[in-house]
Amino acid sequence: MLIVMRTDATDSQIEHVVDVIKELGYRGHPLPGAQRTAIGVTGNQGAVGASRFENMPGVAEVIRVTKPYKLITLDLKPEKTIVEVGDASIGGDELAIIAGPCAVESREQAFAVAEAVSRSGAKFFRGGAFKPRSSPYSFQGLGEEGLRILAEVREAYGLKIVTEALDESGMDLVERYGDMIQIGARNMQNFSLLRRAGRASLPVLLKRGLSATLEEWLLAAEYIMAEGNYNIVLCERGVRTFVQHTRNTLDLAAVPAVRRISHLPVVVDPSHGTGKNYLVGPLARAAVAVGTDGLIIEVHNQPELALSDAAQSLTLEQYQQLIDEVRMIHDVIAPIPAH
Ligand code: PEP
Ligand code: MN
Repeated sequence: MLIVMRTDATDSQIEHVVDVIKELGYRGHPLPGAQRTAIGVTGNQGAVGASRFENMPGVAEVIRVTKPYKLITLDLKPEKTIVEVGDASIGGDELAIIAGPCAVESREQAFAVAEAVSRSGAKFFRGGAFKPRSSPYSFQGLGEEGLRILAEVREAYGLKIVTEALDESGMDLVERYGDMIQIGARNMQNFSLLRRAGRASLPVLLKRGLSATLEEWLLAAEYIMAEGNYNIVLCERGVRTFVQHTRNTLDLAAVPAVRRISHLPVVVDPSHGTGKNYLVGPLARAAVAVGTDGLIIEVHNQPELALSDAAQSLTLEQYQQLIDEVRMIHDVIAPIPAH
């Protein structure tokens, strides 16, 4: 159920509705929009009686939700969400750039890449300290030491740190050192981790699962929101298909398809989405043309020596060229509506 408040509803009227929802044993999620606040109701298995709310002061209308989503939808919040990360943001007019190595390998490596990322004007630095590797014998990341290096990068360059948590204890650590928690493709349906992310103090970058439908991906975001964390950025990173010329098939249609349903920002990862250095630039440009809110790009100071995802890592020079190109495209498409 969705309770739409009148445009002139007061804060205390909104609070009162939320209190009554709570008394009934449910949870109310007030999401303020530009025109009005709507309150999503979660925690109910069946229908909640609308009549209890319809005549309450400040209530404009009560809508029964028939779709599987309650909180991620444009029905609840017709305006796009802008996720604020300190003085940076994702979902606003600016194209957000999240760039850095696949994994933090050493202080020297992280700083060499961060210098180029900062110089490009990007506001976000990515780098894994905990890596979800297919083989247990591959480099697993530096762990907490990697997070300490990332915190130093933030100190030195003012970049916001986006880094993955593989499990709940990792999330405690990322909350301590980072600015945004990445939930990787392999964990997109790790429901206890999603719930933990919903109680986290940081915004969440939620990658699409390797074989997730749009609905499953959006429901994963719904898990996080239902726990009270409304700061979520979706990330399209390709899905597994029969093709052999790329590591994954980057589903750029997902960007406008998400936009049609959800107020959440969506960014694109052409690095994992293609797995190949030469394809990252073309697909990044295409992603901007379809209206992505940002890009997440893997870049390394010595790609040939990278301990993970070497084949898809850009050199520092290639990275800077890509940023120049995507900024040009973004400037051109900015006036087109529905981005
Ligand atoms: C990554 O960003 O390095 C990563 C492991 O991504 P994904 O979860 O999309 O594979
Ligand atoms: Mn990677």
